[in-house]
Amino acid sequence: MDIYADLGVRRVINADARLTRLGGSLMAEPVRAAMDAAARSYVDMFELQAAVSARLAELTNNEAAHVCTGAAAGLFLTTMACTVGSDMRQIARLPDLGDRDEVIIHCAHRIPYDMAVRLTGARLVTIGNVLQTSPWELEAAIGPRTAAVLYIAGEHLARGALPLPEVVMIAHAHGVPVIVDAAAQLPPPENLWRFTRDIGADLAVFSGGKDMGGPQASGLIVGRADLVAACAAHCSPNQRLGRPMKVGKEEMVGLLAAVERYLGMDHAARIARFEQIVAGWVDALDDGDGVRARRDFPNEAGQPTPRALISLDTARCGLSGAELRERLWGGDPRVAVAAAGADAISITPDTLEPGEELLVVEAIRRALAQETARFRLASGSAC
Ligand SMILES: *Cc1c(COP(=O)(O)O)cnc(C)c1O
Repeated sequence: MDIYADLGVRRVINADARLTRLGGSLMAEPVRAAMDAAARSYVDMFELQAAVSARLAELTNNEAAHVCTGAAAGLFLTTMACTVGSDMRQIARLPDLGDRDEVIIHCAHRIPYDMAVRLTGARLVTIGNVLQTSPWELEAAIGPRTAAVLYIAGEHLARGALPLPEVVMIAHAHGVPVIVDAAAQLPPPENLWRFTRDIGADLAVFSGGKDMGGPQASGLIVGRADLVAACAAHCSPNQRLGRPMKVGKEEMVGLLAAVERYLGMDHAARIARFEQIVAGWVDALDDGDGVRARRDFPNEAGQPTPRALISLDTARCGLSGAELRERLWGGDPRVAVAAAGADAISITPDTLEPGEELLVVEAIRRALAQETARFRLASGSAC
């Protein structure tokens, strides 16, 4: 049975990125099997979360861990942990956060997901500008209302922000915890403990449904035991502000299976395979003329994986990057590729199932050939 065909929904070959709007990631057999097994009996959810979290903490070399419904939920819960904490008197006054209700964030780190922090009622205090931030700006922003500093990890956002170790040093000198949004910062798997154990951030948040290959609606919080316990206090199955972000038993064991699998993978071999695919793409698509293809690194989320950037000379091809994307999306099979400016697209190997890399090249060639032929008829010039 093809459940998507039954619904009249088209499948997508995803050469774009691990995007929630495309389904996040695909789950491998052990993850699916764990979820299926979990779906077959009742269990005490507090006991299950505690057991899964203890395993996850051990596997990721962290003091503590907690399964949530995604990194955005993780941002919400870690903010609750740093503002309200586990103080029952303050929890009774929610949604009033009390006296510590400010979260400091670099201007260069303002991303759409900081909405999840604001959802708690906390106020964002922005430091620096898009281009640069000085240590004194962080110092000056810290005051009695400061609950935490939120740091968005990633090479692509590093410009304009202070380095994380410096942020941790300054924040800790004032007794302020640091939350790292590391949602898409895998690979490398070592990042699961690098931000917290190695650099000293108090909490880090990861998406379960991105490179980890866990359930799409899962996320992982790791870090300091007292703060992670506070995250749990605000979360389902308790009836508190985090309850709408309920984590199912299937997600809990699914994420655990995904982390176990992820840590056991040969990541060097995996990246070598990506390099091979990208080299093949560059070879197959660069025509030295109207269509140029090259290796691009790191990827759009600053991860150390290669992708291919394909630039079009629209005057020669009669096709813009946006038109090529549309054509691939409308084609059969439907192929999703990333936009890269007006006249380029980028394609990535890390979201593809084995063999799909060839389908992607074929689809792009078909789309270009189609346009070239039409263009030839129209103007006599060639690509
Ligand atoms: C994907 C992402 C999120 C949201 O993660 P979900 O697991 O989809 O909730 C938050 N922050 C960053 C930087 C992300 O890339």
